[in-house]
Amino acid sequence: MAKRVTLIKGDGVGPEIADVTVECVGAAGADIEWVEVEAGADVVEREGTPLPDKVLDSIRDTKAALKAPITTPVGSGFRSVNVAIRQALGLYACVRPSKYYAGVRSRYQDVDLVVIRENTEGLYAGVEFKQGEKETLDIIERMEAATGKRIPRDSGLSVKPISVGASDAVVRFAFNYARQNGRSKVTAVHKANILKFSDGLFLDVARKVAKEFPDVEFEDRIIDNMCMQLVQKPELYDVMVLPNLYGDIISDLCAGLVGGLGIAPGANIGDEIAVFEAVHGSAPKYKGLNKVNPTALILSSVMMLRHIGEREAADRLESATAAVIAEGKDVTYDLKPNRDDPTAVGTKEMGRAIIEKMKQVI
Ligand code: NAD
Repeated sequence: MAKRVTLIKGDGVGPEIADVTVECVGAAGADIEWVEVEAGADVVEREGTPLPDKVLDSIRDTKAALKAPITTPVGSGFRSVNVAIRQALGLYACVRPSKYYAGVRSRYQDVDLVVIRENTEGLYAGVEFKQGEKETLDIIERMEAATGKRIPRDSGLSVKPISVGASDAVVRFAFNYARQNGRSKVTAVHKANILKFSDGLFLDVARKVAKEFPDVEFEDRIIDNMCMQLVQKPELYDVMVLPNLYGDIISDLCAGLVGGLGIAPGANIGDEIAVFEAVHGSAPKYKGLNKVNPTALILSSVMMLRHIGEREAADRLESATAAVIAEGKDVTYDLKPNRDDPTAVGTKEMGRAIIEKMKQVI
């Protein structure tokens, strides 16, 4: 029986890469019934919101979604539609693998990292107080009274809540991920030396959870040191687990280690529901140009296929994508040695080359 998966084509370059990805998934032999719903900048006029309820309802129903990038329209009432989806559905673990594929121009060849980012709280909780408002000044006064520290009256405030529950969930997820995917080490990344009650709590919880997984090595690193280590010796790391903001930044850094955003896939996973999406955004300047690299969303669909048990189709699609990248012929501009290389192909053409490759291998 076909497996039902929600499809959100998003906006900007989203629909172009989503169409190519859907074709590739079909050609890989996966038996999927796509349930398409619309979200993003293009639906605001019709629906009055970039995130209509029926989008969340569909994902709750199918339990799995493939989502192309969504622009957050200015003044939409959302800080980010993407963050709103993750929070509304309790998708507490964001999984972003960074793996080197032969043929990609990169300073590093020996990289196979997975960033697991806490997805629901920390500085993305959306608890902010605007500079100059009465409520903000009241809070500043109360904080000064409680801490004895002076806070300039012209400050804005962003609150960073880190809870035992959410930290435990994401760290446990990281260890289980390591076990299930044959990985040997989890590194917790933090700034606990300075942020004692938020990052310090995260680190304490990580140490406790690590004791339950004696078969997986555990270590921790301070975020600034981690940045240097990743640039100097990324081969030393395996699975990393981080609070929300650090995870966001480090996953782009790791994407850069293996060739950039055009090939970086991701997943947002909760206890029952998972939404798969590229790390990159809607790249509005390339909208409708058939130019951007579809690989990040294709590799996100590979993660989705594995998640729903379509392992053979996933392997077939990943191998064909890797082969097309390794050949370096039918690839988009970002995978060519020179960004204005006239031999670069478009989004659709790269998708077609991947489909042809799957036919040859079958
Ligand atoms: P972006 O990732 O959309 O684009 C930044 C640059 O990266 C592009 O200009 C392009 O040079 C390159 N790039 C991105 N995707 C590429 C691809 N597939 N192939 C080749 N090159 C690629 O980031 P941005 O410009 O900061 O954000 C644009 C919009 O996307 C914003 O509204 C933002 O909120 C949204 N966004 C959405 C998501 C998501 O849907 N999960 C993630 C990040 C940003």
